[in-house]
Amino acid sequence: MSFFKFPYLFVESFFYLTYCYMNRRNLLKNLGLGLSAGIAGTTLPSTAAQASPSYKKGMAPVKITKVKAIPTCPHNIELIVVKVETSEPGLVGYGCATFRQRAHAVVSAIDDYLNDFCQGRDVDNIEDIWQTAYVSSYWRNGPVLNNALSGLDQALWDIKGKRAGMPVYQLLGGKTRFAVDCYAHAGAGTIEKTVENVQRYMDEGYRHVRIQLGGYGSASLSEAPDFKEAGFGMPDDNVINERLYLKKVPELFAEVRKTCGEDIELLHDIHERVQPMDAINMIRQLEEYRPFFIEDPFSPENNGYFKILRNHTTVPIAMGELYNNPHEWTDLMKERLIDYIRIHISQIGGITPAIKVARLGEWFNVKTAWHGPGDVSPVGHAANAHIDLAIWNFGIQESVHFSDLLREIFPGSPVMKNGYMHVNEVPGLGVEVNEQLALKYPLPAKNDYNWTQLRKNDGTPVRP
Ligand code: MG
Repeated sequence: MSFFKFPYLFVESFFYLTYCYMNRRNLLKNLGLGLSAGIAGTTLPSTAAQASPSYKKGMAPVKITKVKAIPTCPHNIELIVVKVETSEPGLVGYGCATFRQRAHAVVSAIDDYLNDFCQGRDVDNIEDIWQTAYVSSYWRNGPVLNNALSGLDQALWDIKGKRAGMPVYQLLGGKTRFAVDCYAHAGAGTIEKTVENVQRYMDEGYRHVRIQLGGYGSASLSEAPDFKEAGFGMPDDNVINERLYLKKVPELFAEVRKTCGEDIELLHDIHERVQPMDAINMIRQLEEYRPFFIEDPFSPENNGYFKILRNHTTVPIAMGELYNNPHEWTDLMKERLIDYIRIHISQIGGITPAIKVARLGEWFNVKTAWHGPGDVSPVGHAANAHIDLAIWNFGIQESVHFSDLLREIFPGSPVMKNGYMHVNEVPGLGVEVNEQLALKYPLPAKNDYNWTQLRKNDGTPVRP
């Protein structure tokens, strides 16, 4: 990250430093007046009461003037960013609202609903805006509305940081670690290739690697299924051979441990796609290879199996990227049935709810492992990282690689070094959006995402 590479960031930083200096002068001056009044003849509470309007006077209210979606599809991955414009010239915020599978619906939720809802509101009141926006549709939650709300929420935190002249992690309490420790993905179609990938990531400095054999559910291990022979389902539907998957994963762990040693932390994502008892039996087999965690053992419909899982193994468990509502974690946390909360931050509505879930986890020794796949915008990855830096009960972060094109569209994106993610020190989330370039990659009119369309050999649909 360099000011020379992104000269406008230098200009922007200068603007904010000047802005903050002026505000600080006003604040000190006004606090001085309030303090004098307090000493002259009143008690401490009235001094505080006078300091508050002084602060208001020092920080003139800034209103939201527009909320709009910036959809973009570089590398054929639909990304949606929310831009919040304000009554202060040049002051805007960006937040991630990416929901690749229903991108156009999220754009509509932002442009057709949140825009009207937000105009005229005070940008400083993030909690108030979140709470009122959350119930503004009466029926709430769900990925479309939550992602739109997340984009708004993250953008307001971005603006808050810019107004304060601080990176967002500072607003959350400052750093409790120097950078964000990440895991890499070492999936491949064969055990040998996966082992090679693990070694490559170890050479790059990663301390944590997730190992997968083929795609989730090891689709690459499966042969031509009977349902396709019978002409059942759709031509692009995928198949999972559950037995082959359950047999191969322990073999994969054994080989990686044998070849790569004990100094690397190993993770694996079941991705919910096998029967609960099969998942439990497989996790028990993995105990001897000391997994860092096993992720998403059950689909959300099968949460009732967590107690059985916990009673049969001490392997750490990460869960929850499919949850929409922060309340879905409360029972799993308080009963200590999971070890890592696997939140997709835009899915649950942004930084505001995520930080609450994270802080709640501290009470139950549940750590964070925010979801960070390629279909989260760099703004969203920055939001993940700012929370990661600030909270005490950080666990691990999913790493991400940004192409040159993504870095051009999103200047200031986080950088990876030796398996750590770093954010820049620019006020706010630190990521800007080159709108002109973003718009050169429009969303496709038709959504052809069929990754969830997985079937058993006989054609039975399988839930992720
Ligand atoms: Mg997962």
